Amino acid sequence: ESTLKVEKVNKILKNTKNIRNVTFIAHVDHGRSTIIDHISKRFTDISLKASDTAIRIQSSLIPIHYELSDTEPLPTLNQTLNTSNNNNNNNNDTGEEDREFLINIVEIPPNFSDSHIILESTLKITDGTMIILDSVEGICMNTDGSLRTAVNEGILNHTLFINKFDRLILELQLPHEELYHQLVRLIENTNVNISTYAGKEVKELSPITGNVAFGSGLCGFGFRLSSFASIYASKFGVSKERLTKKLWGENYFCPDSKKWFNVNVNESGKTLTRSFCQFILSPLFSIADAAMKNDIDKITHMMKSLCIELSPNDLELCAKPLYKAIMRNFLPLDDSVLPMIIQHCPSPFDTISDRLPFMYNGPLNGEMAQSIMKCDPNGPLMFYVSKLISTHLKGYFAFGRVFSGTIKSGEKVRIFSNIKNNEPISKSIKDIHFVSGRLSERIVEAPAGSIVAISGIDEYINKTATVTTSNENHVFLSHMSTTYPIKVSVAPKNPVDLPKLVECLKKMDRAHSYVSSYIDEYTGEIFVEGPNEHFLEVGLNDLMYAQSDLELTVSDPIVAVRETITTQSSQLCLAKSPNKQNRLFCQSEPLSVDLQNDIENLLTPISSSPSDLSQYLFDKFQFPKEQGNKIWSFGPNGTGTNILTDLIPDHLNSNDIKDSIVAGFHAVTKEGILCDEPLRGVKFKLMDAFISGEAIRRGAGQIIPTARRVLYASVLTANPTLLQPIYLVDIKVTSQHVQGVYETFESRGGSVISLDYIHNTPLCTIKAHVPVLNSVAMTSELRARTQGQAFSTFLFDHWAPLDPENYNSPKVMEMIYNIREKKGLNPNLPENDMYIDIL
Ligand code: GDP
Ligand code: MG
Repeated sequence: ESTLKVEKVNKILKNTKNIRNVTFIAHVDHGRSTIIDHISKRFTDISLKASDTAIRIQSSLIPIHYELSDTEPLPTLNQTLNTSNNNNNNNNDTGEEDREFLINIVEIPPNFSDSHIILESTLKITDGTMIILDSVEGICMNTDGSLRTAVNEGILNHTLFINKFDRLILELQLPHEELYHQLVRLIENTNVNISTYAGKEVKELSPITGNVAFGSGLCGFGFRLSSFASIYASKFGVSKERLTKKLWGENYFCPDSKKWFNVNVNESGKTLTRSFCQFILSPLFSIADAAMKNDIDKITHMMKSLCIELSPNDLELCAKPLYKAIMRNFLPLDDSVLPMIIQHCPSPFDTISDRLPFMYNGPLNGEMAQSIMKCDPNGPLMFYVSKLISTHLKGYFAFGRVFSGTIKSGEKVRIFSNIKNNEPISKSIKDIHFVSGRLSERIVEAPAGSIVAISGIDEYINKTATVTTSNENHVFLSHMSTTYPIKVSVAPKNPVDLPKLVECLKKMDRAHSYVSSYIDEYTGEIFVEGPNEHFLEVGLNDLMYAQSDLELTVSDPIVAVRETITTQSSQLCLAKSPNKQNRLFCQSEPLSVDLQNDIENLLTPISSSPSDLSQYLFDKFQFPKEQGNKIWSFGPNGTGTNILTDLIPDHLNSNDIKDSIVAGFHAVTKEGILCDEPLRGVKFKLMDAFISGEAIRRGAGQIIPTARRVLYASVLTANPTLLQPIYLVDIKVTSQHVQGVYETFESRGGSVISLDYIHNTPLCTIKAHVPVLNSVAMTSELRARTQGQAFSTFLFDHWAPLDPENYNSPKVMEMIYNIREKKGLNPNLPENDMYIDIL
């Protein structure tokens, strides 16, 4: 039977304003898992136990049910919740304060804190973060990368936990004043990083505000200024709030006169101790000292004055274990971290209005957007699938967040995912699952604001998806590049393993957001592609790990290229059908890069009515309306960055052969004329035609090959060339290594685009564009040049001409020749007259 207290879960899921969806951001080894483990052990009333009905899953979410104590203030954050719409919250009818909260800690898969590709989809379902910093190591490179991704996702509400405080006290033993300054620096650097990425002032992290806590995951303690202010408030006879402000910054208390000063000397010239050191660090050091020395008298005395009771077992301990026992009784970690999250992370309502424009491609005044902004459980369903998670059953669960409406088991939905041609698929959801750590349990429904898993639709999902009941074709956007500039070909060492490999790849494909695989239709060769060398390696390792008996041969990395044109066609091209009964005339011209990006970022409303689409293209790109009205297709696959327009005079009834021409167009854009690589940035204009009056003479067999030839001809006559991918490399180094980094980029044909010094640190950030073709082994070169100090990320940024000077230079021709040869094509390019017919 189920161990889940379903009623309780239903109640807390419905209380949307008391839900906190939070992600913990940390550099590797800064203590994220230790903190999560510690917290999740204590609040078990909604945790699941292995039972007949529980399903084992890959851990993704730790829900914590926590009651805020009476001494903690209730959150005052934005709380834009419109109470008239408060139909989902029935807890407040009594007028009583509502102190029960559900904190959903959304987990990031281990080893991926530096991948903002993974982070992006995770952060999309969360509202705030807790940044975890190792107090000794300070800000590290991938804390920084994660912060940037969070800011790009519109998350501006952060909290900070300065971890491993035990090391500051027991190991570093810095003078108190120095320790204080180290903490100040950590906080300042974090603030500078966030506001740099945001490009504006954002809510500051400050111990006084209460969004900064200190402590130790390993020892299980944590505190904010307010924790100590509560202890001292009555002694000083001032309010806790007032005292909190005195415990940080330039505040000094004179024990003789019992007065506060803003400088470290009193009237009579006596040196004063900073209040933080006097009232917080001193006692912490004394406790440590007494515990480490096993000074039982002193400990007993302190315990009494702090009202801590240790169990008899704990009193048997000595040294570090004793220290831990005292500290976790004195300042329990949960009671600093969880209230901090409750008070300073937004609820699902609070910031969604600001973030939605970055997340969603529909109109913001539409019914759906309005419902999302209100988190309306009665609105149309909008569910974002951030990832597929594996289960001990067959098939994956789709894990994600309800942004609008209420998701119900058995409900019929439309699924948008980038499987096949982006057409939505209508299916019924099977079950809804409440997720807790490594287990999940069925529930009936989940309202807006909740994070749950759903079963029964994973087959139709590739990596991420939008699931909706609306008839509108609007989806959640992804900023992550879907361009994979690098790939390897893989094959099983033993050919009989081929089916097994294909099966494994299919699974890897859908569940992994950082790699993708495909089979070349003609050669049967299997490719795995990824955003950079690193992720390709990780993806392949995972694959081999999942199927350890599968031995693979993996090729060297192959860099992707694209084909494009550089001018408009030099002539109107003509192709005649094999039966000579049909003629097609076509000319092509380049599309602007801005328009290409717009299409690729899913901003162009390609499935809107011709008049809406044409208005959009005209307003934004001055795309001529008479052409915009006559767009037949985007290609390849109905979504690509090439456009087919039908400018054939109306009386010729070109619609009779539309399907065949569109089919030819998709083939031509999928495999370009130069070397069978995808085409981008081409507008094809069908100018004229001669169409047979007899249906039987203008069938697909006649028209498709003719369309292909005339489209190819219009490319061949428009000075075609190759495009190469360019990385945006982002690297953080100490200033003495800047020179070395510059040299590395220059020697690889890259160009530095910015150099920014980070305030108060010896660090600077360098950004550069580097051709992917020249990036092989660049990570290790950068590491060597900076004595292992540099941390860099490589991401696809844009396509650039392989040779900007000359579209058919020897360099371009050689590359075309090599690719053709490798693919078993005739190495020499076809002549124009193979494709162009004469009248
Ligand atoms: P993660 O990579 O961020 O998940 O970090 P882990 O939680 O796995 O911790 C990494 C290492 O740091 C482990 O050896 C932990 O025992 C240690 N660690 C975590 N928290 C603390 C702490 O508060 N103090 C000390 N001294 N060590 C800690
Ligand atoms: Mg860990």
